[in-house]
Amino acid sequence: MDLKGLVRDVPDFPKEGIVFRDITTILQSPKGLKWAIETMEKSLKDIEFDYIIGPESRGFIFGVPLAYNLGKGFIPVRKEGKLPYKTKRKEYDLEYGTAVIEIHTDAFKPGQKVVIVDDLLATGGTSKATIDLVEEMGGEVVKLVYLIELDFLKGRDLLKGYNVTSLINYD
Ligand code: 5GP
Repeated sequence: MDLKGLVRDVPDFPKEGIVFRDITTILQSPKGLKWAIETMEKSLKDIEFDYIIGPESRGFIFGVPLAYNLGKGFIPVRKEGKLPYKTKRKEYDLEYGTAVIEIHTDAFKPGQKVVIVDDLLATGGTSKATIDLVEEMGGEVVKLVYLIELDFLKGRDLLKGYNVTSLINYD
């Protein structure tokens, strides 16, 4: 299936010079959505794990159906101030400035295995911050799954040593 053909390229979003890969056009397509979830799911068939973790907000869209289909729980990682219970936070660098993500302190137990799911791997900053949160809480990241990878941003360099799968690549 030509899933890449379903991605809408939006020039100059969120700012000039950036081509945003819009995945809402995949979600809109019943066949595209089905193929995306099923193919992400296949990449997890030999992986043993306890939870899927999805970073806000597009990580929720793909993470929840995967967790549901595979009979696992889902754990949200959110931007600062959104989670209601006690959280652990991680600050990480953006192109300009910094951002903070948070996870509930009781989201999983030390020793448990998690898979991180997001729509897109760009610089890897969001994923690395999520990995750091998980590992600082004693968890193990056994796989990372993305719908899209922007290869030219070399996000995988930040994720060396981890098992990474992406379905659509932009060189
Ligand atoms: P990174 O932290 O790897 O630089 O950026 C990845 C995060 O930013 C992901 O959570 C992803 O949702 C978002 N993101 C960055 N660029 C794009 C894009 O072009 N399209 C979409 N759909 N998400 C993007």
